[in-house]
Amino acid sequence: MPTTQPEQPPSRVGIRTCVACRQEAGKRALVRIVRGAEGAARVDMTGRAPGRGAYLHRDPACIENARRKRAVERSLHATVGSDLWTQLSS
Ligand SMILES: [Zn+2]
Repeated sequence: MPTTQPEQPPSRVGIRTCVACRQEAGKRALVRIVRGAEGAARVDMTGRAPGRGAYLHRDPACIENARRKRAVERSLHATVGSDLWTQLSS
């Protein structure tokens, strides 16, 4: 029988799902948002801050989509201030 499906690699290191469009992407295409200690979401510039993280495409459409759907709030159970969106769209 034909095997058209390529085998899944055993490791999916570096692949994350964008919380806005639910598409998978490599970490480099995404921006990481973490839940800070005080329950407020913030952009993780280093990509390795401790804590729960959500990923979002570096794409204005996904950023806007996430903002409208409150996808980051729901994913992280964190509060998202308007300054976060300002930072993401700059
Ligand atoms: Zn996306």
